Amino acid sequence: MYWENELETLKRTDLEKLQVKRLKNTIQAAMNSSYYGNLYKQMGLSADSVKSVSDIRKLPFTTKQNLRDNFPYGFLGLPQKELIRLHSSSGTTGNPTVIFHNRHDIDSWANLMARSLFCAGVRDTDVFQNICGYGLFTGGLGFQYGIERLGCLSIPAGAGNSQRQIKLMQDYGTTVAHAIPSYLNRLFEVFQEEGFDPRKDTKLHTFVIGAEPHTEEQRQRIEEMFGVKAYNSFGLSEMNGPGVAFECTYQNGLHIWEDAFLIEIINPDTLEPVADGEIGELVMTTLDRQAMPLIRYRTRDLTRILPGACACGRTHVRLDRIAGRSDDMFIVKGCNIFPMQIEGVLMKIPEVGADYLITLETINGSDEMIIEVEVKKDWFNGDITRLDKLSRLITGQIRDEVLVKPLVRLVEPGSLPKSEGKAVRVKELRKALNS
Ligand code: AMP
Ligand code: ZN
Repeated sequence: MYWENELETLKRTDLEKLQVKRLKNTIQAAMNSSYYGNLYKQMGLSADSVKSVSDIRKLPFTTKQNLRDNFPYGFLGLPQKELIRLHSSSGTTGNPTVIFHNRHDIDSWANLMARSLFCAGVRDTDVFQNICGYGLFTGGLGFQYGIERLGCLSIPAGAGNSQRQIKLMQDYGTTVAHAIPSYLNRLFEVFQEEGFDPRKDTKLHTFVIGAEPHTEEQRQRIEEMFGVKAYNSFGLSEMNGPGVAFECTYQNGLHIWEDAFLIEIINPDTLEPVADGEIGELVMTTLDRQAMPLIRYRTRDLTRILPGACACGRTHVRLDRIAGRSDDMFIVKGCNIFPMQIEGVLMKIPEVGADYLITLETINGSDEMIIEVEVKKDWFNGDITRLDKLSRLITGQIRDEVLVKPLVRLVEPGSLPKSEGKAVRVKELRKALNS
């Protein structure tokens, strides 16, 4: 029933004891890095400062900017000889974020991944196709090690080339696949172009989807299109990558592995903890990482802890689906809007196709939100009245959701630009913000 019986079902009091013990070790290891070493000494902090989980609040937050300012080695707690791998983000907007691992870290990550996959119902009898870029991005190797640890037959397919993905699925009888949700809409279109129905022409029963924000509506579409169960996987490179929080087969929130990560939800403005069950920014501390521990890392991801216990028996708390990142939010005509609010509306409308793009532009001195929406093939047939009706329906529903009337443009399926990796949902062209 569980991958690691004892750890996954620990009594809360025992889990907290383990967390305190591991937190102390983490502080000690972190103090070997120049960043935490200097900072904590200056502030008079050490492992002894922590006697309970809530004592973590005595320690300062760590931000992405801190990581960038101390790039590449400032957070490293071990000599280079001990390290066996690094992963890093692209760094298009400054220094990349790099995370170093020693053998223990890679081993413990593989275990968390295997545990996560088992939790979503994957077993060693499955054939697992990982449709994800291998390389510095964590979704490739991170999953690979977990799939192998669990004992599935792994197909390290990599990203892109949809025809080849479909062929692999058919040749080897893939039963489980991992991909980012925005790609799966595209993959489905290619299935159709090739004259296949994934429900009938593959053995797929499970998808693992994650690495980018998506809505419940999007999940349901994927489940219907492919005839599978789709489980949400959350992670970030700073916390290894995937294997941080995962849905179990009850699909009611993501169990976050609290023996490996200590979590807090804070109000991003006051930096104080939010009340139980409220949405705030997720703050995370590694509890089982040796090479590069991170303490009170501000993820910028917005979520909440779901109340109550899960019927699966795991005692680790469940996070709600990520509502967005605090830096994803944009303001139009005084209204705060998250892209996922718009996706939620669009994905409920059956005529809407795979993709959409929100462009923010100043038109005649006024901020406008233009939403280009791909429409399914059989709808895009030149029947202007029908399209006009659909456009008005979308406009009205989005206005009701976000309180701003968008300019909706319906476009042909496949016509919006596709990004290499995670989907880009918002294009900011407003003058005031760019000057
Ligand atoms: P990276 O470190 O480049 O892999 O990006 C990590 C970020 O991707 C997280 O901080 C989230 O903002 C986002 N992310 C990852 N998994 C999910 C998920 N399941 N749902 C929503 N956002 C996600
Ligand atoms: Zn559960």
